[in-house]
Amino acid sequence: MSGPHTGGCLCGAVRYEVRGPLREILICHCVECRRWAGRAWAATGARVDDLVIEGDVAWRASPESEYNADRGNCAQCGSCLFWRSPGFDRVSIGAGTLDEPSGLRVAAHIWLEQGADWEAPPPGMPTYPRGYPADGPALAWH
Ligand SMILES: [Zn+2]
Ligand SMILES: [Zn+2]
Repeated sequence: MSGPHTGGCLCGAVRYEVRGPLREILICHCVECRRWAGRAWAATGARVDDLVIEGDVAWRASPESEYNADRGNCAQCGSCLFWRSPGFDRVSIGAGTLDEPSGLRVAAHIWLEQGADWEAPPPGMPTYPRGYPADGPALAWH
């Protein structure tokens, strides 16, 4: 799916548009994503400069993040929307907050070593014990 992608939070106070490509989805099982989102967090990615946000996002530090990341929730309803790090020119976006159809697919599950014991990736899905490896297959952008 090409062209601008749009999405938003549960209550509608935050809407966003991505004026550029989106990355295939990575599903992160790390303990911080789990505590934040209630389960493994499905995230697409965009260039920071391509993301235009309308509405109030509450940014909070992700406590144990090795990347000094912040997590962004809707300030009104709390929907889990964004993950960003000062060192990255990319921002992660909760894939479930995109308007449909997204045109995206899941590329891999990551941080399985911190995953919940009840949440297993489907058979045949690429999995990684920690983050997506730098030498892993290139992730497609659409
Ligand atoms: Zn909201
Ligand atoms: Zn995570």
